[in-house]
Amino acid sequence: MPEGNEIHRWAERHTKAFVGKKLHVEAPGGRFADADAIDGKTLKKIHAVGKHLGYEFGPDAILHVHLGRYGDWTEGVGELLPVKGALRVRLSRQCAKKAGSSASPRSAQDDNGEASTTRHGWYSEDDGSTSLEPADVDWIELRGPSDCSLYDREQWKKLLGRLGPDALNGDDPEPAFAKIARSKTQIAALLMDQSVLSGIGNIYRAELLYRARLSPFLAGKDVPKTTVEAMWNDSIPLLKAGMVDRRIVTTLPKDRPHGEGKPLKPEVHYVYRRHGKPCWVCGTKVQRQEMAGRSLYWCPTCQAE
Ligand SMILES: [Zn+2]
Repeated sequence: MPEGNEIHRWAERHTKAFVGKKLHVEAPGGRFADADAIDGKTLKKIHAVGKHLGYEFGPDAILHVHLGRYGDWTEGVGELLPVKGALRVRLSRQCAKKAGSSASPRSAQDDNGEASTTRHGWYSEDDGSTSLEPADVDWIELRGPSDCSLYDREQWKKLLGRLGPDALNGDDPEPAFAKIARSKTQIAALLMDQSVLSGIGNIYRAELLYRARLSPFLAGKDVPKTTVEAMWNDSIPLLKAGMVDRRIVTTLPKDRPHGEGKPLKPEVHYVYRRHGKPCWVCGTKVQRQEMAGRSLYWCPTCQAE
């Protein structure tokens, strides 16, 4: 599931590609009824807050997208492709609307002459990184989101009111610290609660706790404030690094078996999806357990209660 790093990465790329331009908006699958309301309008701004994206065409015309567990954007250059799969919405520069015309598609073609696309397979070998410059992107397609709908300003305001501070937006973290300090809920659950902190998902949750050497089972109120502050501060560079190429790397070179250099794929995390394998630091088997419907990973020695 995409976390805050991914959401902000899309916002940054799509801003470079589309903000200030008139866009053609279509929903060929018929599952986004309000496409017509923003079709042909100029995209003013893109908001990224936690795991939410907002494509603002006007104060009362904000395309809200939550990717959920399975949603993803595809980017493309040149001609629009025939509609494939469960396409929820497609945004394109008006000049890109030339499917079936004789206009020649622009750069980034593969050998078959088809416009290039990137389709990211979660946890596959393909890390989704692309050499495509955002300014060259002509169209984007959205598939599998948990929400794609048009918000007015009141709905957007309500959404913001429900979300905790987002480290990638430079928000003041104090409201989150205060909620954690009062809470009897386990810290691992609080980190995932978007009303406490927004943008942290399962990978960052597990890895931030490990890097703080903190037991996931401590109640929020029992975690020293300095530790909570340290995790917040730690999350900022980690989230920013995760915006670069869709990979989240949390291990320090000194803790990886191969040390310096680009980390090997199995060495990018301390505990996330490493259950049953030895902790890089102490050798104890990494554990996994369900917590609030999501798998939690931790090292019982480094993160002892
Ligand atoms: Zn350990």
